[in-house]
Amino acid sequence: MKLRKASLAAAGAVALALTATACGGGGDDKGSGGDGKITIGIKIDQPGIGLKTPDGKYTGFDVDVATYIAKELGYDAKDIVFKETKSADRESAISRGDVKFIAASYSINDERLKKVDFAGPYLLAHQDVLIRADDNSIKSPADLNNKKLCSVTGSTSAKNAKEKLAPKAQLQNYGGYSECLTGLENKAVDALTTDDSILAGYASQASFQGKFKLAGFKMTNENYGIGLKKGDSDLKKKIDAALTKMVADGSWDKAVKANFGPAGYKNEPAPKIGNVVK
Ligand code: GLU
Repeated sequence: MKLRKASLAAAGAVALALTATACGGGGDDKGSGGDGKITIGIKIDQPGIGLKTPDGKYTGFDVDVATYIAKELGYDAKDIVFKETKSADRESAISRGDVKFIAASYSINDERLKKVDFAGPYLLAHQDVLIRADDNSIKSPADLNNKKLCSVTGSTSAKNAKEKLAPKAQLQNYGGYSECLTGLENKAVDALTTDDSILAGYASQASFQGKFKLAGFKMTNENYGIGLKKGDSDLKKKIDAALTKMVADGSWDKAVKANFGPAGYKNEPAPKIGNVVK
């Protein structure tokens, strides 16, 4: 991660979260290694979804979903080891057994289903674009052609942008979304594309207030699933049951309000388990 000093201050909690983790080193715990702990893959730089705060706490909708699932699997919150899984590392983290499951803005798609299985979906988001507040030149996805568009390696957003939405955009793929944010702020890029659920969290950060806006394009359907080892039908069944219960007992709604409320993100209703919207 290369953040310049000035940008670091501006990026606030996001950058701090990244720095804290870079210094702390990743855990090398295995998924559930018989030590009473469970290791769960998460994002650490997405406010409202998965964020590691400077004091080492994890917050966000994915964190709440993961914690609920862990409880249903028999693990207290204190027995959870969260491990950062960047967009490009998710399939391999699951295959290697580094994590028991992943809750990290992880869209279900056919390509990924060749390597991993998904429980859920548990949230329906849509690909959108974040631009500078004073930019009036991007009014439709086609306007992204010839613009410098930032996304993240291994994400569906990068793939869609290149293949479908704006094939002539100058796509720049970074390792994480917070690096794109710095680029957007200092005009190294013109736009950042990923899920609206993630972009809303960034736009509402105190340090970014008034600087960025969401274009509101709803370009794709991103069905967030819980990634798990291919063929582990027992775990998939248990996680699906946990997600169903989370919706039924009101915990899903509570988590949505607590995590998306501050960003004003208007989420879709809870998806039905197994119903992946194309
Ligand atoms: N949901 C999209 C994906 O799974 C974009 C967000 C992300 O990179 O985590 O690729």
